Amino acid sequence: MIEIKKAALYARFSSDNQRTESIDAQVRAMKDFCTQNKWKIVETYVDEAYSATNDRRPSFQRMIEDSGKGVFDIVLVHKLDRFSRNRYDSAIYKNKLKHNGVRLYSVLERLDDSPESIILESMLESIGEYYSSNIAREVMKGLKENAFHCKHTGGSAPLGYDVGEDKKLVINEREAESVRIIYDMYINGYSYRNIAEYLNSKGYVTKKGNKFKPNSVSFYEILNNLKYTGTYVYNRSSSKDYSHRRNSHRYKPEEEIIKITGGCPAIISKETFQKAAERRKSVTAKGQLGSKHFYLCSGIVVCGECGKKMFGRKRFGKYAFNVYCCTSYKADCCNIKEVDSDRLDEHTVKLLEREMFNESAMKKRIAGLNKRIERYNCRIPAMRKSLNRELDKINTELIKLHSKKEKSIETYEKINTLELRKNDLEYAIDNLHEIESVSYSDYSNLINRFYELKEDNLRFRTFVQDYITSITVYRDKVVFCLNYGLGILDDVTKKYTFERKLFKTPTQKM
Ligand SMILES: [Zn+2]
Repeated sequence: MIEIKKAALYARFSSDNQRTESIDAQVRAMKDFCTQNKWKIVETYVDEAYSATNDRRPSFQRMIEDSGKGVFDIVLVHKLDRFSRNRYDSAIYKNKLKHNGVRLYSVLERLDDSPESIILESMLESIGEYYSSNIAREVMKGLKENAFHCKHTGGSAPLGYDVGEDKKLVINEREAESVRIIYDMYINGYSYRNIAEYLNSKGYVTKKGNKFKPNSVSFYEILNNLKYTGTYVYNRSSSKDYSHRRNSHRYKPEEEIIKITGGCPAIISKETFQKAAERRKSVTAKGQLGSKHFYLCSGIVVCGECGKKMFGRKRFGKYAFNVYCCTSYKADCCNIKEVDSDRLDEHTVKLLEREMFNESAMKKRIAGLNKRIERYNCRIPAMRKSLNRELDKINTELIKLHSKKEKSIETYEKINTLELRKNDLEYAIDNLHEIESVSYSDYSNLINRFYELKEDNLRFRTFVQDYITSITVYRDKVVFCLNYGLGILDDVTKKYTFERKLFKTPTQKM
C-alpha cells in the first residue's frame, strides 16, 4: 500500500517587496506541486507583511508547533527564503521539523537527498542570509566612509557632474547648464513637459545621452538632489542595493543617508533649491495641511507604547501650544499623552551640545570612534575571506550549471540568481577597504556646522537628525538615542533617559 503523504503549505508575503509573488500565486504553485507529487494538503499557513529575518511570524510559529502533532509529514514553501532568511533560525526550525519527522520542500528549489542537493540547499540558504547578513552591513560602512570623505561611491554621477580622478564629483559645465535651466523653469511655474521640450529644443541630453522626457521621476530626482547645492548626499537606494531592487523613489530611513555640507561643488544656490522645494510642496501637498510651526524632531519621535511615530501638531484651546502626538491617537488604540514639542526640541539641542558638539565631548567621541574603526579594519581580512569563499562556491556551481547539456527553466533561473549574487559579492569585495580614522579637524568642522546651521530650520533638522536615531516617549520617561557613528559606523549609539515630566504641556498634570 502506498502511503499518501500529508503536506502543510507555508506562504509569506512581505509588503516591502513589490516583486514578491502574491500569496495567491505562491499558494497556487504549491498546490500544483502537491498534485504532481500526489501529496495531500492538510493545512495552509500564511503570514502577511512579516520579514523573514526574525521569527515573529504567528502562522509560522503555529506551523512549527503543529509539526509535533503528527498532522503532516511535509512542509512545502514556494521558495526557501520564504521559510527563513537567517541560517541560524533556519537550522533551528529545520531541526525541529526533522525531529518531528517532517521534511521541508521548496517549489522553486528542487531539493532531494543527494549530496549535491544538500550542498545546494545550504548554499541557497547562505545566499538568502547574505541579504540581511552582517557582512552586507559591514560593507556599507566602507561605502559610508567613502561618502564621508566625499568620494563618489559608484554608479554614474548625477546629471551636471562627472567623477574626477580622485573619485570626487566635478562639474560638467554643459550638463550643469541644463540643471540650472530645470530649476529655473520649475520655480517659474513651467511643467515638466515644458521643461523637457525646451531642453530638447536646445540640444541638451540626459546623462545617458537621451532626450529628456516629461517623465516626472527623473525631474523629481533632479529637483530633489541636494548635491546640486554642494551638500554631498549618499543615499543607498540610488545606487546598487543588495536585494537588486532599484526603487529609488523609496527613500531610505534618515540614518542611512549621509549628508555633508560643502562636500561637492555647487551648481545652484541653496535659495534656488529651497524655492523648488517650496513649489514641490505646494504642488504635492494639495489640500494637505502645511504645518507652519517648525518641529525639529519630526520624524524621529516614537511612541513607546505602540511603536508608531509621533507627529507634530498644534493644540488649540485656552492656550495654543505645539505637541508631538502619537499617530494612533485617532484610532483610539493608544493613550500615550502628547509631549510639548518646543520643550522636547530645545532639550534635544541642549543634549547634542553637551554630549557631542563641544571640545571636551569631541575628544571622547574621537577616541571611541577611532578605537572602533581600528577594530573594523582588523576584521577586514576575515570578511574578505568569507566573501571570497562565498564567491568561490558560486563560481563552482555556475560552472557546473553552465556545463549542463540540457538546461531546464529551473537551471536558467538558478544561473540567473547566482549571477546576481555573484555581482553583489564582487561589488562588496571591491568596496571592502580600510576606514580612515577621524581627525580633530573633521570633528571640529562638524561642531562649527552645528552652530552655523542653528539659524536655518530645515537644514538644521536634517543635520540634527543625523546624530539622533530616535526619541522614544514612554509614560514615565523619554529616551534619547544618540548616534555617535558620524555616518561612518552605524552601531555607535548611546541612550539617555530623562523624566517624562520635563516635557509636559501647559495643561498636563503629572
Ligand atoms: Zn502610541
